[in-house]
Amino acid sequence: MLFRPRPEMLELILLHYLHARKKFTNEEEFNYTNLIKGYEGELKSDIWLRGLTDEWLILNHLLLEYNGSTFQIDTLIIAYEKIYLLDIKTFEGDHSIKDDKWYTPSGKPEKNPLHQLERCETLLQRLQQDLGFNIPIESYLIFINPEFHLYTSSNHPAIIFPAQLNRFLKKLNTRPVKLNKKHYQIAEKLNALHIEESPYKRLPPYNYEQLKKGIICPNDKTFFTDVTLICSKCGRVEEVEAAVLRSVKEFSLLFPDRKLTTNNIYDWCGGVKSKKVIRRVLSKYFKLVGHRTSAHYV
Ligand SMILES: [Zn+2]
Repeated sequence: MLFRPRPEMLELILLHYLHARKKFTNEEEFNYTNLIKGYEGELKSDIWLRGLTDEWLILNHLLLEYNGSTFQIDTLIIAYEKIYLLDIKTFEGDHSIKDDKWYTPSGKPEKNPLHQLERCETLLQRLQQDLGFNIPIESYLIFINPEFHLYTSSNHPAIIFPAQLNRFLKKLNTRPVKLNKKHYQIAEKLNALHIEESPYKRLPPYNYEQLKKGIICPNDKTFFTDVTLICSKCGRVEEVEAAVLRSVKEFSLLFPDRKLTTNNIYDWCGGVKSKKVIRRVLSKYFKLVGHRTSAHYV
């Protein structure tokens, strides 16, 4: 049973908006691409885990804290006799381990994901003890990308390779499971302890003036250049209301402190649609509050 579905990632949504309207530095571009890959990997693992029978509690994306240390859990599966802690990895290409050190396909040293996993398990172990539980935890690195390979001379039972994913699931499915109140209690407690972090502080710096204005095609982020709202790249024909509402959503999420006014949205849309059209859409979907210069929609 899916106890906690994976939430939409607001940070990624904001980054998509920004990326279309601003040039990213190499580092920002790198982080953005990694975040997309990571999230896609998690979604892929969610699909894979649909193969589990129903008697499990699955909790996705938890950010927890123990004694001042925060740790993130991609997926937690609560079973009768165990808690499975899964860290989803989207590594690609031929990685290798030499003397306990990990190397990228190009031979550069990289962070040992097993260390990260151990840290996570230790913190979760202490946290559940504090909460009054003592269910053994078993942790795994799940390598979801079929293009991943690891050269290593030793056996790592915590690593699940792409070719082992199905068998891993089968193994889980053969375990006898009958959850009781205790299992639901720990799921509820962990879920309640999740920390909601503001995505804004992790975004690349931006301000209103530097962002390119206009209405963007949702398929390919091309800016609509004329009033007919036909994308010059993919040919998509947009309804005015949908296009304006999408732009309003972008504007409000990127600039939560700015007021929703006809002038602001007209400017944000790059003047592609007239103020009259913008006002008509805003007044249809939002409520006008305030008077004269302070008038805005909510
Ligand atoms: Zn398009």
